[in-house]
Amino acid sequence: TQWVYTFGDGKAEGRADMKNLLGGKGANLAEMSSLGVPVPAGFTITTEVCTYYYANGETYPADLKDQVAAGVAQLEKIMGAGFGDRKNPLLVSVRSGARASMPGMMDTVLNLGLNDETVQGLIEQSGDPRFAYDSYRRFIQMYGDVVLGVEHHHFEELLQDLKDDRGVDLDTHLNADDWKELVGRFKAKVHEELGRPFPEDPQEQLWGAIGAVFGSWMNQRAITYRRLHDIPAEWGTAVNVQAMVFGNMGDDCATGVCFTRDPSTGENVFYGEYLVNAQGEDVVAGIRTPQHLTIHGKQIHGSDLPAMEEVMPALFKDLCDVRDRLEAHYKDMQDMEFTIQRGKLWMLQTRTGKRTSKASLKIAVDMAREGLISEAEAVDRIDPAQLDQLLHPMLDPDAEKDVLAKGLPASPGAAAGRVVFSADDAEEWVKRGEKVILVRIETSPEDIGGMHCSEGILTTRGGMTSHAAVVARGMGRPCVAGAGEIRVDYKAKTFVARGRTIKEGDTVTLDGSTGEVMAGAVPTIQPELTGDFGILMGWVDGIRRLRVRANAETPLDAQTARKFGAEGIGLCRTEHMFFDPARIIHMRQMILADDEAGRRKALDTLLPYQRQDFVDLFSIMQGLPVTVRLLDPPLHEFLPSSDEEIADVAKAADVDEGTIRAAIVRLHESNPMLGWRGCRLGVSFPEIYEMQARAIFEAAVEVAQKSGETVVPEVMIPLVGTKKELDLMKAVVDKAAEEVFAAKGKRLDYVVGTMIELPRAALRAGDIAETAHFFSFGTNDLTQTTLGMSRDDAGPFLHYYREKGIYEKDPFASLDQDGVGELVEIAAARGRKTRPDIKLGICGEHGGDPSSIAFCEALKLDYVSCSPYRVPVARLAAAQAVL
Ligand code: ADP
Ligand code: MG
Ligand code: MG
Repeated sequence: TQWVYTFGDGKAEGRADMKNLLGGKGANLAEMSSLGVPVPAGFTITTEVCTYYYANGETYPADLKDQVAAGVAQLEKIMGAGFGDRKNPLLVSVRSGARASMPGMMDTVLNLGLNDETVQGLIEQSGDPRFAYDSYRRFIQMYGDVVLGVEHHHFEELLQDLKDDRGVDLDTHLNADDWKELVGRFKAKVHEELGRPFPEDPQEQLWGAIGAVFGSWMNQRAITYRRLHDIPAEWGTAVNVQAMVFGNMGDDCATGVCFTRDPSTGENVFYGEYLVNAQGEDVVAGIRTPQHLTIHGKQIHGSDLPAMEEVMPALFKDLCDVRDRLEAHYKDMQDMEFTIQRGKLWMLQTRTGKRTSKASLKIAVDMAREGLISEAEAVDRIDPAQLDQLLHPMLDPDAEKDVLAKGLPASPGAAAGRVVFSADDAEEWVKRGEKVILVRIETSPEDIGGMHCSEGILTTRGGMTSHAAVVARGMGRPCVAGAGEIRVDYKAKTFVARGRTIKEGDTVTLDGSTGEVMAGAVPTIQPELTGDFGILMGWVDGIRRLRVRANAETPLDAQTARKFGAEGIGLCRTEHMFFDPARIIHMRQMILADDEAGRRKALDTLLPYQRQDFVDLFSIMQGLPVTVRLLDPPLHEFLPSSDEEIADVAKAADVDEGTIRAAIVRLHESNPMLGWRGCRLGVSFPEIYEMQARAIFEAAVEVAQKSGETVVPEVMIPLVGTKKELDLMKAVVDKAAEEVFAAKGKRLDYVVGTMIELPRAALRAGDIAETAHFFSFGTNDLTQTTLGMSRDDAGPFLHYYREKGIYEKDPFASLDQDGVGELVEIAAARGRKTRPDIKLGICGEHGGDPSSIAFCEALKLDYVSCSPYRVPVARLAAAQAVL
């Protein structure tokens, strides 16, 4: 087996499409190398070695040693240097690289191959002892931390001690002798901590680092990240061993990160940050304030530091060329890492760049218009979850803002919450039901869990590409980074900004689009849905087959649904119309009446209200289909509970309170969701459904006459299990329709159908379809009745089910396709057999879930219906389901 793939010198054994084998980093290093982009030579140890390693008690394949030795030999040849050579030493980096990018998860070791002898060679080669010893101490620090497990802070403390000894503040004020001294102290520390000396042998160093990379695949941070991002442990990581280039050899050296387009706005401008005379992750570590690449970037971010464009114009041009070539080649926005060594540019990484939702949309639309990709590709590139973020609140521009401080606009969107100062606290508070803003000096990979559950993230150090910024953008959390005017005191759990002190638990608002941090909770508004959004949704609508409707009952919901492009209402839950304070009293009277005459009296009072509701809905929906579900919930939900409510109802119904209390006891159910609800109400008291049907038809006729639009009401009977129930209820509806049409002298088309939300209904769908014109799969109830799991009670134990992999996803959020899905499939097939043109839709949470929508597409259902805010997501998912 080939375990090792080499790259460099304009050639490579690997390619970009070999990510599974070489990891993302290795595959792209190979691709860049073949493209002739300057990449330091190196080789990749495949992910299969990682898999082998864990499958075989943490051992390597027998022939790996030889293949690595051959890889090193080839590197030595290309670089004209020797690994461990004391005159002309080859130094390498050892870098992890999984299939999917896992930012910050794995630790890189730089400058490997240095020891007390080779450092002399490095001095001779570079002519710069200060550089050589600085590189050496960095190596011991990184290797000590990552490979040997000597905690980072030991080295930090020794460095601080040395600076104190020398009476200086900045690293840059330390000279060669100082660094040499530090190397000694570092090594002594390692010896003290481990009880054995720091490894001097480069071979031992190399294999130690390779083992550490494979070992880190199973560290807690990596496991957490994989869990959050659904990455299987079997994938494994690759290891890249690559010749070092140095960005810290002087002022003609630099290191930086850049994006081919602005990752936060999506604008087609080159965006990035760099540091002169620095190495590796200095830029993202937030140790020094990075400088912008372009004058434009400097201007929009208000930086005084000179741009690369000004400082190194020729190299900047080289970098721009690479930008153009890579973007044209990969046809997507790239996130690149580069180093400049003594006036020569080297590329160290490229990958598809993470971006904000806004940028994602803009880049996809722009690239399609530039002809780089097709419209369908643009549609396919938008992550439905990211689109969702665009529909989320922004700060109300008219709201009063009490600005505490300003930082970098690192990840857009606005969020308010209570301040906490550690990731652990964030997780704890959120478990208690709090909304929190995580405030940190800077974040690190250990904080991922806490960042994920926070509403927003605020850091006081670091730039736009700092860990906090990158991770927050990926997660879609608003983030303000590098708010340098804020002083955090972790001990006191406070921060001070512009002279004001904010304590743990105080509420603040972040605006990740402007970088502002505000006291209190600032009101938010919905974003505009025009521009790029409108263009993309136009393409989406041209591609998708499934129709998308909304679940809506109030005029506001209906308007929102239309604004988001709903093509009708798939579920209007009429019971929501009865909870209005002016109405509930009549509803209660109706339920508590002891005969039909009493019920009819109360229903007559409710009729005009209900009719007006439908007039509003039909008017707003302007001829689009509206599915109205007749009364569904258990009767007892409407019962009065407080003494005051009981007294009111008694008074209105002109009975004593004792009668009401007795009725409440009588109607109590131990399992209401399987009790007296749905069409069981209509079967028991047909006058309820009769009133609702009357209200629907009177409203439909009224709107049709007034507007001239066709109104096609779809009347839906809930919780049907047998054809007979539906027959009885349809007869009630038909009779009401005839009466209304006769009285108004106008007829309308309408249809009567049913929810399929009981397993029995799904199985008997063939019969039921003789009566039903349409089925709407009520997958919330169908899930709970099929799984025998109450959706209101499943929360606490479902979590164990997901942890143990019994259900991979929450079956109430994402359809259980194997189980509930099979019932849907059976019902669809049997329904169609009876009535080939039966209309089939799905309502309930799953109607807005992309993978459930793909399932509906596979079954060729007619529509999905979801909450108004999910409509654009559902439209997009429906389009992606056919691509
Ligand atoms: P990550 O996956 O965390 O981005 P990398 O493997 O990309 O880690 O390494 C981090 C940084 O280390 C790179 O961005 C680069 O600046 C530096 N680096 C890695 N390998 C080399 C090398 N061969 N020469 C110079 N710098 C390197
Ligand atoms: Mg890193
Ligand atoms: Mg990197």
